[in-house]
Amino acid sequence: MRTAVIYDGVYLKHDLPTHPENAMRLKYFMEPVFEEFSGALPILKPRQVSYELLTAVHSENYVQDVIISCRERAPGFFDPDTYFNSFTCDAALMAAGANEVGVELLLSGEFEAFFCAVRPPGHHAERDRAMGFCIFNNVAVAAVKALLMGAERVFIVDFDAHHGNGTQHTFYENERVFCFSTHQYPFYPGTGSTAENNSHVLNVPMKEGSGDREFLGVYSTLYRKAVKEFSPDIILVSAGYDLHADDPLTGLEVSDEGVRGIVEEIVDSALSLKVPLLFTLEGGYNLNALKRCSRTTFDVLSF
Ligand SMILES: [Zn+2]
Repeated sequence: MRTAVIYDGVYLKHDLPTHPENAMRLKYFMEPVFEEFSGALPILKPRQVSYELLTAVHSENYVQDVIISCRERAPGFFDPDTYFNSFTCDAALMAAGANEVGVELLLSGEFEAFFCAVRPPGHHAERDRAMGFCIFNNVAVAAVKALLMGAERVFIVDFDAHHGNGTQHTFYENERVFCFSTHQYPFYPGTGSTAENNSHVLNVPMKEGSGDREFLGVYSTLYRKAVKEFSPDIILVSAGYDLHADDPLTGLEVSDEGVRGIVEEIVDSALSLKVPLLFTLEGGYNLNALKRCSRTTFDVLSF
């Protein structure tokens, strides 16, 4: 697949070394990209997300609060989990902007697959608040961008160990966006039960201890059926590698090979539907596992 990565050093400046969601994560994630795949993968630069697009996902009051907080109140916390410093706003605007650029380049046909190697992550961010290490909802920005560019239907698949509450809430009433999620349940943030499912929301809660067999069972059947029936114009992936067995914050047991299998199912679904594929980085807090998951993902994407 013609694949590109988008990355910027600004993502490392949003940092709190004692926090699990720190800059080392992205350094480790990018190491295989720079050292093993740099010849095969163009590494592009993002730009700030357009204000109009960002405020189609988040309230203007909230966006202004983030901008002013980072300028005047840094460092601090938006919620007990979500820190900010004076660079957080720049990083968050560029993380959302990477997703905007990615969708543009995919829907214009320039690339077939795209990986937004960004921080802060996005899928917990709600319309009017930061939550769970997330400031702006990057994958939601990508989905709205795709709709604005003429996509009829957008499929979001979220394999992060946590449920993407912000993403589900953003599109709960929007039948043009399908939200498919596997996540540990019951677990933070508390949402993601099957009771929340509707015609275009499919939560597949996974018990603590679920591993390769359970996940590959879901991705080879439920996921494949859902994405085929929905027949989207683009597939967006909230790629959270905290489903890995080595992750310190979660209780799932997916191995390196399990992660490969999930990524292969997603890539294969995009190829068989002949639609572009955008990944955006969400969680993943064991540095060495994150590096191996990065290598595995790009290995699958750069065949
Ligand atoms: Zn997570």
